[in-house]
Amino acid sequence: MAGCASRPPHDAEIAALKQCYENTRKLDEAKENIALRQNLKAGDIAPIKDVSAFIPGGIESLKCPAGGVYTNMVIGQWPPCSVHGSVKDIRKQIDALRTDK
Ligand SMILES: [Zn+2]
Repeated sequence: MAGCASRPPHDAEIAALKQCYENTRKLDEAKENIALRQNLKAGDIAPIKDVSAFIPGGIESLKCPAGGVYTNMVIGQWPPCSVHGSVKDIRKQIDALRTDK
């Protein structure tokens, strides 16, 4: 297809969402590690300071570009962003931006 020279208008927003997604993925990984070590079950809450200890640089190093925070560490649920929402919401927003040209 011709006309690929101009940047799609939503690049920056998509990049922000992707970074946020990546943050929540790292948090989820750390959280599931805690769950194994502390024998937590689905629905339990992983202590955020323990989760943070599993992240290189701590949880503060995972910054949502939109200023969202990650505080909900329920076992069995992907940690949501306070701005972008659940991982489903994040994916939906990325898809919507990709198709809305
Ligand atoms: Zn976010």
